Amino acid sequence: MMELKGKKVLVVGLGKSGLAAALFLRRRGAQVTVSDVRSAEALARDIPALLEEGIMVETGGHGLLTFRRQDLIVVSPGVPLDTPELVQVRNFGLPVIGELELAARFLKGRLMAITGSNGKTTTTSLLGEIMEAAGLPTLVGGNIGVPVVALIDESTENSWSVLEVSSFQLETTDQFHPNIAVILNITPDHLDRHGTFENYALAKERIFAAQTTADSLVLNADNVRASAAAARSAAPVYWFSLERRVPQGAWVEDGFVVFRAAKGTAEERVISLNNIPLKGEHNVENVLAAVCAARLAGAPAESIRMAVEKFKAVEHRLEYVATLNGVEFYNDSKATNVDATAKAIAAFPAGIHLILGGKDKNSDYTQLSQLLRERVRAVYTIGSAAAKIESHLRGVVPLHSCETLQKAVQAAASAAHPGEVVLLAPACSSFDQFESYEHRGRVFKEIVNEGRGWKVWQNA
Ligand code: ADP
Repeated sequence: MMELKGKKVLVVGLGKSGLAAALFLRRRGAQVTVSDVRSAEALARDIPALLEEGIMVETGGHGLLTFRRQDLIVVSPGVPLDTPELVQVRNFGLPVIGELELAARFLKGRLMAITGSNGKTTTTSLLGEIMEAAGLPTLVGGNIGVPVVALIDESTENSWSVLEVSSFQLETTDQFHPNIAVILNITPDHLDRHGTFENYALAKERIFAAQTTADSLVLNADNVRASAAAARSAAPVYWFSLERRVPQGAWVEDGFVVFRAAKGTAEERVISLNNIPLKGEHNVENVLAAVCAARLAGAPAESIRMAVEKFKAVEHRLEYVATLNGVEFYNDSKATNVDATAKAIAAFPAGIHLILGGKDKNSDYTQLSQLLRERVRAVYTIGSAAAKIESHLRGVVPLHSCETLQKAVQAAASAAHPGEVVLLAPACSSFDQFESYEHRGRVFKEIVNEGRGWKVWQNA
């Protein structure tokens, strides 16, 4: 464990995890400064509590001197590592770590960590519920909304911390060492920040960098880039696959999820596919991954079955909203990259009216062409990425430029026939028109629910 008393620590970025890290460090006796590029007005809500704790606050930019006079820098996941002040202090040899790394040095008990381009939140919350159903002392946190430092005080030698970890958090780990690590999939995302797909994939691989032969790594055998990681793993690899049996891990056979701990050992039928309440094959993948991790942690098959059967889709993840005039509305606002959108489309056989757009992340939307031709009646574009999306998809399916979510929902709802689906799965982040994907999803649901005055749209 590292000594914090009297250490000078700078926390860069005052998001949820930065704030939690600053307060934690202060309570452990560090001299803490926080620095954020946002203005004092924008941060007004958090500043008084920080000052009261004796934390120094710098707003509206980063001073290089602030960065130099430190023993340790804790950087928030939203702050790019190529920020000039960070590059400089790293060149001076100052340690720069993230909140995840900081917390991991103080957490007691065992760690399970889940990363991937898509499915992290779903799989992490499912695993949390499975572990609880098994009666194991469980804490859930990380990218899922509860900062990891907030788990430290509750953790014990017997507890399991189940952590959702993003590529941004993994970029700043060093000794972070999960007993069980899961990579659900690696598909293009955040290329605006990581530059290349390979850089992004290597950030994800950091999840197992500190693992040893005593740990376990769970990988998706059906995902090319995730399975390639096996070659670099010191820990034994457990696989999951929708398509075939695996030497050790979980797969689908005769309509059941099957698990075996090693080749030649007994095969257990854990749960019938009919009893998985979530929509789409991608969610079967999430269940397969959770089955592997939970069995490795010692949760019995019976607890897994119970927790999976009760599990409800997390809000904004292919969430059913309403059926109006025979048309079903689904909110997948969390589909913020092309692969998540592809999975959402694949969850419905045909007749989809798809709302796409938002803020582009340097994505290639032509990847959707085949699925669009097979299943999608029309695409309704919104936000700043609309022109790019339209140029990528021209000639594939009918395109309607709607600009706003309100107009897109109305246009899609008026065009859809009974039995068809209106799907918000925008393949982009939300920050051009909304505060967050949650905000975008809530607005979508409000528009749909107001549309119970449905006839108005049809005449519009
Ligand atoms: P994350 O936390 O990684 O963003 P979520 O569980 O919040 O993952 O899901 C994000 C988006 O990806 C949602 O649109 C969801 O429907 C979709 N999704 C969930 N699981 C998978 C998966 N295994 N593969 C691809 N897409 C998925």
